Amino acid sequence: MKIYDVTGSIFEGMAVYKNKPEKQPKLKTVTNGYVTESRIDMDVHTGTHIDAPLHMMTDGDTFESIPLDSLVGMCTVLDLTGVHDRITKEDLERFAIRKGDFVLLKTRNSDVDEFRFDFVFLAQDGAEYLAQLGVRGIGIDALGIERDQPGHPTHHILFQHGVIVMEGLRLKEVEAGEYFMVAAPLKIVGTDAAPARVLLFTGLAPTAS
Ligand SMILES: [Zn+2]
Repeated sequence: MKIYDVTGSIFEGMAVYKNKPEKQPKLKTVTNGYVTESRIDMDVHTGTHIDAPLHMMTDGDTFESIPLDSLVGMCTVLDLTGVHDRITKEDLERFAIRKGDFVLLKTRNSDVDEFRFDFVFLAQDGAEYLAQLGVRGIGIDALGIERDQPGHPTHHILFQHGVIVMEGLRLKEVEAGEYFMVAAPLKIVGTDAAPARVLLFTGLAPTAS
């Protein structure tokens, strides 16, 4: 069995969306000389995280609506490193994507750790295609699944179809193929997203229960 940790590290100075200073996590270590307790102040969309529908829909469900059994199971890493701007339906049609799949989109975003304003994202027609196929979730190696497109169509299409959106993955070390995924978000109540530790396993197949 091999474990791939596809989670981004959280620290002050890490890559944040559009390099906005207010999105930097603040870590404060407080010690009285023998007891140390750190405090963290950060956006729930920091680093590797999972979005809830509330993020883009004012009446959308909050984070606890996302079932854990959708976040644990087989996933497929798709090699989209040849795409230079946005992932379209045409880019996705060459893969044998099935209903119920959780697809992780590996792009050239994983090559660098800093935020790129021209990050590769999922185009509206790509989101429509995956939603129509009935995938259960989509992960991408960018801090956004779209680049602030007017009206945020990609997010809306996915949330309307109940597709889980995972952002901020680090997929450089992971080859295309199938993995057993454990995506474990913090159990935060009432929010529009939650940071998550995401692990991929090879040599570990689910057994029927
Ligand atoms: Zn997000």
